Amino acid sequence: MSKSGSPIKQLPQFQYWHQKIETMPRGHLETLQLERLQNMVDRAMLTPFYAPKLKAVGINGSEDIKGLDDLKRIPFTTKNDLRDGFPYGFLSIPKEDVVRLHASSGTTGTPTTIYYSKDDLSRWASYVARCIYGTGCNHGDVFQNMITYGLFTGGLGFHAGAEEVGMMVIPSGSGNTTRQFRLMQDFGTTVVHATPSFLLHVESIMRAEGVSRDSIKLKRAFAGAEPYSEDTRRRIEELLHIDVYNSYGLSEMNGPGVAFECQCKDGLHIWEDGYIPEIVNPDTLEPVPDGEIGELVITILCREATPILRYRTRDLTGFYTEPCACGRTHRRLRRITGRSDDMLIINGVNVFPSQIEEVIMAMKEVGNNYLIEIEKDGVLDKLTVKTEVGPDIFMDDSRPLNSLRERIRKTLQASITINPRVELHESGSLPVSEGKAKRVYDKRPKDV
Ligand code: ADP
Ligand code: ZN
Repeated sequence: MSKSGSPIKQLPQFQYWHQKIETMPRGHLETLQLERLQNMVDRAMLTPFYAPKLKAVGINGSEDIKGLDDLKRIPFTTKNDLRDGFPYGFLSIPKEDVVRLHASSGTTGTPTTIYYSKDDLSRWASYVARCIYGTGCNHGDVFQNMITYGLFTGGLGFHAGAEEVGMMVIPSGSGNTTRQFRLMQDFGTTVVHATPSFLLHVESIMRAEGVSRDSIKLKRAFAGAEPYSEDTRRRIEELLHIDVYNSYGLSEMNGPGVAFECQCKDGLHIWEDGYIPEIVNPDTLEPVPDGEIGELVITILCREATPILRYRTRDLTGFYTEPCACGRTHRRLRRITGRSDDMLIINGVNVFPSQIEEVIMAMKEVGNNYLIEIEKDGVLDKLTVKTEVGPDIFMDDSRPLNSLRERIRKTLQASITINPRVELHESGSLPVSEGKAKRVYDKRPKDV
C-alpha cells in the first residue's frame, strides 16, 4: 500500500527514463535551474510582453540573474496577461519557426494560446515519456488515448510521449464509450489516459453493457486534466482493477508532463529541471511555509517559442517535505484540490467542490457521477447535490433511497456546514462531458 491507501500492485523495480536527471542531487539540480533560468530571461527579453516588464524591475538580461533568489524580482504572469498578449505578445522566435500552437480549454474564460518550436515539441514529448515510463510502462504496452485531441494539449501531448516510450498508440480520442471497449478488446489495450470523470463513466457503461472485465487487458490509467479526490482514484482502481496515476499539466507549461505520480502513488513529482515551482499565498503572494497549501506558481525553464515566467496557475497544492521512496529528487506536489477561483460562497460560507466530492465518493452506495447546483431561493442561496446511485440500489425501493439521501445530507452538512438538498438519480442518467467534467451549475444571478 502507498501512504495514500492506494495499492501498489506489482512492487516496483523502479524504472527511470533519465536516471541521472531524475535522481540528480538537489545542489546540481539548482545549478542547472539557474543556468536555464538565465537563458529563459534572455529569451523573455525578446518578447513584447516581458521586455518592458523586466526592465521596469531592473532586469535587462541574464547578467541580472545571479542566483535562484533573483526569481523573486520577476513579476508574476497571470492568465489575463496571456489573454492581453494575444496573439503574439509572448512569442520569442520568428513566426516561421513556430511548428504548432495549442490553446487552454478555456475553463475560466477566453482560452490562451501557446506556440512551440520543433525542439519544444521534442522536449515536451520527452517529459511526457519520463512520466509514462516512471509508472512502469514499457514499449510492449498498448496505449489508448481516450482524451480530446485538437487544440487541447492532453491529446497530442500524451500521444507524442507514448510514442517516445515506444508503446503502440491508439488515438481513440474521448467519447464513444462502446467503441472504446471494442478497441480495448481488439488491440489488447494495457494503458489508457482519460479524465477521471470519463473513466468512471466508462466503468458505468461497461457494467450496463455487460462487457466482462476478463475481455480486456487493462492494467493502468493516467487520469488528470481536472481535480479528483483520493476516494475517486480508489473507486476507479477497485472497479476496474487497475492502477491509476495522477497526471498534472497545463497548456501554459506545455500541457501534460509537468508533474506526475511515480509508482509510489504518493504525490506528483514536478520536473524541476524543466520547471521552477513556487507555492504562494494567493492573497499576499508571499511564499507559504514549506509543506503548506497555497497557489502553485511555475516558471518554465526550457521553451524556445513561448517563455513564461512565474505563472500564477491558481491551482491549490503544497509540497511534500520528505523524500520519495523511488529515489527521485524532484519535489512532490500534493493532489491538486482545485483552483482558488473554484471556491463557491454559499450563504456566506466558503465551499470548494472538492469537499463535496470527497464526501460523496467515499460512500459505496453512491454511483459514479454527481452535480452541484446553486440557486437563489428568496434572499438565500440553495445548494442541491445531485448524485447517481450505485448499481445495487433500485430506484423503485423508497426506504433504502430515503435513508441513503438522509445519510448523504447529514455527512455533507457535517463537512461543509451547509444543509444541502440531495437528489438521487439512476446510474448513468446525469450528463457526462467529453472533455473536462462540468460539475458545478451556479444559477444565481450574477452581480453586474
Ligand atoms: P484551462 O485552464 O482552460 O482548464 P488547460 O486545458 O491547460 O486549461 O488545463 C489546465 C488546468 O487543468 C490546470 O491548471 C488545472 O486547473 C487542471 N488540472 C490539470 N491536471 C489536473 C490534475 N491532475 N488535478 C487537478 N487539476 C488538474
Ligand atoms: Zn517517487
